[in-house]
Amino acid sequence: MIKKFIRRILGAKDKSNGRVEPKIYGLKEHGIDPRLLSSNAVRVTDTLQQEGFKAFIVGGAVRDLLLGHKPKDFDIATNATPDQIKRLFRRAFIIGRRFQIVHVMMGQEQIEVTTFRGSSADSAQKDEHGRVLRDNIFGEQHEDAARRDFTVNAMYYDPASQTVLDYHNGIADIRKKTLRMIGIPEARYREDPIRMLRVVRFAAKLNFEIDPATREPIRVMAPLINNVPAARVFDEMLKLLTSGRALACLQQLRKQGLHHGLLPLLDVVLEQPLGERFVTLALENTDQRILQGKPVSAGFLFASLLWHQVLEKWNAYQAAGEYPIPALHLAADDVLDAQLDKLALQRKIASDMRDIWAMQPRFERRTGKSPYKLLEHLRWRAGYDFLLLRCASGEVDAEVGEWWTEFAAADGPGREALLARKPAGETGGPAKKRRRRSGRGKKKTDGAPASDNSSNTEPE
Ligand code: ATP
Ligand code: MG
Repeated sequence: MIKKFIRRILGAKDKSNGRVEPKIYGLKEHGIDPRLLSSNAVRVTDTLQQEGFKAFIVGGAVRDLLLGHKPKDFDIATNATPDQIKRLFRRAFIIGRRFQIVHVMMGQEQIEVTTFRGSSADSAQKDEHGRVLRDNIFGEQHEDAARRDFTVNAMYYDPASQTVLDYHNGIADIRKKTLRMIGIPEARYREDPIRMLRVVRFAAKLNFEIDPATREPIRVMAPLINNVPAARVFDEMLKLLTSGRALACLQQLRKQGLHHGLLPLLDVVLEQPLGERFVTLALENTDQRILQGKPVSAGFLFASLLWHQVLEKWNAYQAAGEYPIPALHLAADDVLDAQLDKLALQRKIASDMRDIWAMQPRFERRTGKSPYKLLEHLRWRAGYDFLLLRCASGEVDAEVGEWWTEFAAADGPGREALLARKPAGETGGPAKKRRRRSGRGKKKTDGAPASDNSSNTEPE
């Protein structure tokens, strides 16, 4: 009785409304299929438990297991400290300065093992908007649960006993297909505004409803995202775009008012009527690749999302008298510059994007040696896939894409025949419009010297 009373008082004090004692579900109640588990993850929990530590599969993996999906990766939470974890595994690496986690490598698989975190939100160091900057103390399991974002992400699964520990009614929310923030949503968004993007991603990916109390503050609090370091926003955007439900994610972002004025990339993508078909196709394409387990290149993805902005500027530079090729480079510079600081596009991604864009006019040249040279380009495949997207969206004649498909597949004589098929100088596709605007475009000077720039008027 007294114990229960004390627990109630303690429970009431817990700001996240979390329980100190979890609900425990057995196999019959949760129905997790052990075949969906990674044997490596189970080895990690077993090893830790044999040493007397607590160890559970946690977070998104438990959520996915409960939904009957195979998790894409496994996170493990334990009361062992990073040093204690590291000692138990042959290939284990302590990562991070702020809050150390351990990467345990098992063959090709990387298992992330984290020590339970404490509930230090009050004492944590914050910026002037309330965003938590440092927060790195270890804690009890119930504190660890309360620090997680959504109820469905805060469950612990013990493979040995096949039980699920549920501190925040996550199982009930899984059944209701509801995303519900643990604690007071406004406070949790303030601590970490990225959670607003996470709600959107999970709602779209899992096809869940967002609980009204979790949903409503987003519209008002959205500007706090501006305050988050660009690299974190970029990581989250990439997760969103490679979730396998990118289109649904972008629709959700719009619905929650998270698109306007926050992320320049989204402004461009969601508010340009012109490129909508192209972007839709690119994202459908990406979603399909992800669902088929194929890799997706961030460079290709962002090159697609920003292509119509590049096109617009490319046309503007040419209208102002610039040669086509330098005009394209100037347009690419403008678009990349605008995105670089805000989105923290890594240099490698930016250079992939530039390569893909810069290859596009070269597909117009289907005579002489240049098609052979293009085939040898390091990023030929990405450039060609990009061309096919442009064809599918109606921007370029389908015939151009078909010609290149045939050319790439043909043998020597076949290629010569294809080259002979087109009279020199006649090209399909996007050049037509530009040639009309600028007589000099006819020259199709792929290697037009940069000094040409000086003779041209400045664009607006
Ligand atoms: P995914 O399937 O996309 O990997 P996930 O739920 O595993 O989804 P992760 O980003 O891998 O997401 O994070 C693992 C777990 O860590 C989450 O399930 C959640 O419990 C916790 N978590 C991650 N990010 C946050 C955050 N910003 N705030 C609170 N908890 C978080
Ligand atoms: Mg995960």
